[in-house]
Amino acid sequence: MNNYEFLLQDLTKIKGVGEKTSQILKRKKINNLFDLLFRLPKSYTDRSEKLKIKELQIGKILTINVVVKKYNFPRIRNLPNKVICEDETGVIDCVFFNSYEGYIRKILPLNENVTISGKINYFKKRYQITNPTYVSKESSLIEKVHNKYSLTEGISEKTYNKIINQILKNLPNLNEWLNPFILNKFGNESWKDSIIKLHDPKNIGNFKSNFYKRLVFDEILASFLVFSEIRKSIKKNKKKSKKFTNNNFLKVKNKIDFDLTKDQKNVLNEINSDLASQSKMFRILQGDVGSGKTIVALISALNVIESGYQVALMVPTGILVNQHYLLAKKIFPKNIKINLITSKTDLKTKKEIQENIKNCKLDILFGTHSLFQKNMNFGKLGYIIIDEQHKFGVKQRKALSDKGGINCDVLLMSATPIPRTLTMTIYGDMDLSVIKEKPTARKDVTTYSKIDSKINDVINFVKKEIQKNNQIFWVCPLIEESKKLDHQSVIKKYEFLNKLFPGEVTIIHGNIESNEKEKVLEKFLQKKYKILVSTTIIEVGIDFPNANVIVIENANKFGLSQLHQLRGRVGRGEKQATCILMFKSNLSENARKRINILKKSNDGFFISEEDMKLRGFGDLLGFKQSGIKNFRLADPIQNQDLFLLAENEIKRIEKEEKNLMKYKSLIKLYDQAEIINDLV
Ligand code: ADP
Ligand code: MG
Repeated sequence: MNNYEFLLQDLTKIKGVGEKTSQILKRKKINNLFDLLFRLPKSYTDRSEKLKIKELQIGKILTINVVVKKYNFPRIRNLPNKVICEDETGVIDCVFFNSYEGYIRKILPLNENVTISGKINYFKKRYQITNPTYVSKESSLIEKVHNKYSLTEGISEKTYNKIINQILKNLPNLNEWLNPFILNKFGNESWKDSIIKLHDPKNIGNFKSNFYKRLVFDEILASFLVFSEIRKSIKKNKKKSKKFTNNNFLKVKNKIDFDLTKDQKNVLNEINSDLASQSKMFRILQGDVGSGKTIVALISALNVIESGYQVALMVPTGILVNQHYLLAKKIFPKNIKINLITSKTDLKTKKEIQENIKNCKLDILFGTHSLFQKNMNFGKLGYIIIDEQHKFGVKQRKALSDKGGINCDVLLMSATPIPRTLTMTIYGDMDLSVIKEKPTARKDVTTYSKIDSKINDVINFVKKEIQKNNQIFWVCPLIEESKKLDHQSVIKKYEFLNKLFPGEVTIIHGNIESNEKEKVLEKFLQKKYKILVSTTIIEVGIDFPNANVIVIENANKFGLSQLHQLRGRVGRGEKQATCILMFKSNLSENARKRINILKKSNDGFFISEEDMKLRGFGDLLGFKQSGIKNFRLADPIQNQDLFLLAENEIKRIEKEEKNLMKYKSLIKLYDQAEIINDLV
């Protein structure tokens, strides 16, 4: 057995851990010895202070050495068993509720010396300890500091400490994987010493010390190494490079009335050189809502088509795919053969498309998920573009990149601006392109906050906007406790507004099925209604150029980034857009901070950075739920410096170290996912 393999053993390998305890721990995702080591002690109880009975203080947790003198087992229900003990200075009662006589006789044998620790009470003029957790003839086992972990029901503190201490005692020496220059930054703390210190009660909360930072760094490095290996495996096989003229931008230029921004041009260049290279592109394009990702994607698609390949462009919803399709029809040269496929496409058309895609009679196909159904066989697929994704995990992305075959490049686009350390954490397997600046033609959305009692002001504002022929989104948040209530509150708001603006209001909410939802949105797009009342489900990415007001109720229920995303649904046209955040009562300190950030800035990256500081990265846009990455210790906000250090170290490793055997134990321990099995 390799040293590290010891740590990956099942917990039942530990003395005193049976199937039952192991199952309880597994439910908490503690599957082996290694996992257990990263559950940190939360606090501790110092039981090292030993006193004589005479000196005991009521209410304190103390330890005493006594002789067992007498049993008192009343054998009447509800009356506790009692054991009378003494030392040369006094008498104390040990009181046991719900304990068997036999057990008590065993741990407290008559006339023997025992050490007892517990909280000291005083009852009927006598000291007493109730249900003492720590009783032993071996006083050294008790007279020390005992760690407290957040425990699962069914495992006592005593048992847990016993398990942990056993593992710590047998901790193997692992070959050092950090290079000396890095190790030196952490005071040359070895992994083993660091783990021992991690469980030393006096180090609780000591997040800035060398041993802790070393362990955080190990974790980040392991995760980056895996990403690095995935990237390498994607780039390993040489593809046919794509050949095109770069004329395609000029071809579409006269069909759009703007020039590309500097960022758009840069990103397009990055993509083009990937397409023209011999390595498969596996790239994520990040850009705030409205930063103009679509046009970049479409121009690069034209390049791929020119080089003789087909393109698949996938989007999450029917309406969005329709918008992209119409845009392409408008700006692409007439000889390009375009089609789209959604859940609404009838069977006959579907069959036709399948034929044409197989025989290369189609150049580009737009679609929702149906795009990658089984019987959709592309004759010569060279490029997959996926718009508005942030829910794919690493494995799904890898599968996607494999799907198109070796000559197929992949571009994902995300409108979720996130801080860089988080991008590194989530998309580390991909190359990154970023559009930071927005087209100058776009005006910032003006943001106001209003308390609910001022709703008349809001209504008057809305009235004026409607007179100017503008459209309004009215968002009611999800009330998580009850779907029903949620539904009711949206309907109530709809009825309220519809009384004020008869026939001008429409509604979508979670209980409406998606086909119906699309119909409503379609009608709203065609300006058949002035106000759309909805829960948060107005989709990312859809262009509603005529909507320029968004009212968000109960705004304190949303995180900053979510509010920014919602706000991004307006301001996509020429007109000045407004966002009104409504609150039930006066703002809390934290809410006030968030509002000010939103009023001050329209920059999604800045806002997400601030959001992460206020909320912690796990909560940011539900990344926790998505299960994308769960670090044991590392935190992309608190440990930014270590993320950057790891990024540099990875670059060095990629350049200098051909053999990764040195990192095998690191990777195997920290990243137990299957994905690495074929890597190291
Ligand atoms: P997103 O990045 O959110 O997908 P879109 O691609 O939908 O953004 O672009 C939003 C709007 O901005 C579209 O109406 C698009 O035509 C317009 N647009 C894109 N690039 C520019 C530009 N360089 N100058 C002006 N308007 C632009
Ligand atoms: Mg978009």
